[in-house]
Amino acid sequence: MRRVAIIGAGAAGCFCAALLREWRPDLAVTLFEAGARPMAKLAITGGGRCNLTNDFQGIRSLSEAYPRGERVMKRALKAFSQDDTIRWFTERGVPCVLQEDHCWFPQSQNALDIVHALLRAMKGADVRLKTPVISVAQPVVGNYFSQDFAKNQFSTTSTKPAHKKGRDPKNQFSTTSTSPAHLNMEVMPVGRTEIGLEARRCLLCGNEVRYCMRAKSHTVSELLARIEEMVKECSDC
Ligand SMILES: Cc1cc2nc3c(=O)[nH]c(=O)nc-3n(C[C@H](O)[C@H](O)[C@H](O)COP(=O)(O)OP(=O)(O)OC[C@H]3O[C@@H](n4cnc5c(N)ncnc54)[C@H](O)[C@@H]3O)c2cc1C
Repeated sequence: MRRVAIIGAGAAGCFCAALLREWRPDLAVTLFEAGARPMAKLAITGGGRCNLTNDFQGIRSLSEAYPRGERVMKRALKAFSQDDTIRWFTERGVPCVLQEDHCWFPQSQNALDIVHALLRAMKGADVRLKTPVISVAQPVVGNYFSQDFAKNQFSTTSTKPAHKKGRDPKNQFSTTSTSPAHLNMEVMPVGRTEIGLEARRCLLCGNEVRYCMRAKSHTVSELLARIEEMVKECSDC
């Protein structure tokens, strides 16, 4: 079976893995992630809501919106447009809403829904956490990943550096990684509401705490004062 290695289980790496699982189930996909969790950054994007894409209404030229990467962005959107993105997530159980400011968000306003949809779509991919890739080299023997691939230990001692030009397309890259840890897809942090509990409430105003956090509704000293008050109330009773 042909093997694909993806370095980094962020939004890009995981989406790539998800598409490969759907489009090319014949490929064995392995993601190497330096951190302890996949998509850790994605989970906090858009203030925890994840601004998925834009409807691009009113944008006359992409260079206005993406001055540093207009051409790359154009190519990416041609291959997979903003409509494709919304359709892809909606079809995978994440309905989305368009805000007045032209930004698309998951209807739940929860970036973790995006994370979970991607994890579901990636099912079957091998995700190795706490496994930073520290070098990428071209193996001397022109074969796919070395036999140590399965053990997650790659030796670069017998490899020579990959050059951008003149690369033999038959030669695949080997990678070097350390401290493997596998992801158990079933063991993901779950929110209180996902296990039937009420969302956590703010100690000060009683609103859902996530809204207060995002809006920074209260100061640290206000919260500390309230906690002290609560401790006192407890010790008095
Ligand atoms: C506060 C904040 C809010 C944001 N909000 C939005 C938003 O609402 N919408 C939006 O589209 N974008 C938002 N962004 C930008 C967002 O971070 C990117 O869109 C998205 O995370 C990019 O995904 P990525 O996979 O390219 O990179 P990352 O999410 O950074 O993922 C890269 C991964 O590669 C891993 N890695 C790096 N080097 C190695 C290595 N050598 N070996 C193994 N693993 C490695 C990293 O640990 C990381 O997990 C926001 C960013 C920030 C900081």
